[in-house]
Amino acid sequence: MSYSNKIKGIYKEQLKDIEDKGIFKEERFIHSSQAADIEVEFPKGTELKKVINMCSNNYLGLSSHPEVIKAAHEGLDSRGYGMSSVRFICGTQDIHRKLEQKVTEFLGTEDTILFPSCMDANTGVFEAILTDEDVMISDRLVHASIIDGIRLCSAQHDTFKHSNMGHLEKKLQLHADKRLKLVITDGVFSMDGDTAKLDEMAGLCEKYDAMLFVDDSHSSGFIGETGRGTHEKYGVLGKIDIITTTFGKALGGASGGCVSGRKEIVEMCRQKARPYLFSNTIAPVVVSGVLKVLDILSQSTERRDKLEKNAEYWRKGLTEAGFVLKEGDTPIVPVMLFNAGLAQNISRDLYEEGVYAIGFFFPVVPNGKARIRTQISAGHEIEHLDKALEAFIKVGKKYDVLGKSKQEIIAQYGI
Ligand SMILES: *Cc1c(COP(=O)(O)O)cnc(C)c1O
Repeated sequence: MSYSNKIKGIYKEQLKDIEDKGIFKEERFIHSSQAADIEVEFPKGTELKKVINMCSNNYLGLSSHPEVIKAAHEGLDSRGYGMSSVRFICGTQDIHRKLEQKVTEFLGTEDTILFPSCMDANTGVFEAILTDEDVMISDRLVHASIIDGIRLCSAQHDTFKHSNMGHLEKKLQLHADKRLKLVITDGVFSMDGDTAKLDEMAGLCEKYDAMLFVDDSHSSGFIGETGRGTHEKYGVLGKIDIITTTFGKALGGASGGCVSGRKEIVEMCRQKARPYLFSNTIAPVVVSGVLKVLDILSQSTERRDKLEKNAEYWRKGLTEAGFVLKEGDTPIVPVMLFNAGLAQNISRDLYEEGVYAIGFFFPVVPNGKARIRTQISAGHEIEHLDKALEAFIKVGKKYDVLGKSKQEIIAQYGI
């Protein structure tokens, strides 16, 4: 037997270490479709509980939208279930090309290439377009998938302090001698809900002859006046050289991602990006669903407008109740609790009250910055938000955090 007790012991020890650190990730099972109201089994084996969902990326409430489901059914009937090939052999259909054209139009770019996921887009793109003569300069808080993409690329890597434009400028000066310079950022940062200053970044890139990369996974579909993303919000449509995004969040929530941007860069990805070349692309049923999502969003801004109103309402309610929030104007609203145990306890009590919102603490966020991250959706009605607010206030009172400052909460609970 090659899987000996010794090997087994090594893994058991590591798993126990994860548990001892309090960072073991228990699975939670949803027994319904993804929506504002869901039925959850947590912990495993306990009775199902009906809760208000405040922790999904279903920003536009499209995950279970009847028109999207209908379009997916039609795609399944007309183009079948699977591709059984990677794209460059025989795994591309007409609808894949159609989706690429629609995404290009929606984002206001030159061309688009689909990837199995945005994780794959991010792990494939840098390696495909940069060499060891080049440099990547990334914000220090970029998403894990970007960090993996950077690891896979032979270009030099440097970072700038989160959203610090002075520091970015210094780094651009420092690397003036490199052949190509690529500045890399998330559009909306998922832990804090803040947005990258894309207008200033685009200006700096122009001044120092650098390219700009934005991962808009937490923005596509709802940030900006017509939901095109952070580049619309900051008035730099057409000025971002590379946008990556996911179809697994606001844009229907199934799966898939893309690289969209300069024509030559997209073509380089078609020639060289390994997750595109060596992994099946998005299934036809999902392509059909995303096509419908983009139709819906191109016809009306109703859903992103409702989301904006909901998020404002929620922020205002929590602020008036006396919670400490991370400031921002996105549907990601973090309720700051600073102490990991406190965040866990409040999350558990909220669940008992019928509100599903998850506590985040080290190592997901820095030590001493534990929080409950709430995410608002266009699928929420005011009644959902009022009910959730009531639960937050009840639990907040129990732990005596209402009306308390950061310093007061830390004095009481430590970090
Ligand atoms: C969710 C997310 C991804 C990964 O998207 P998938 O399509 O699920 O792989 C990539 N980047 C950012 C910023 C994300 O938030």
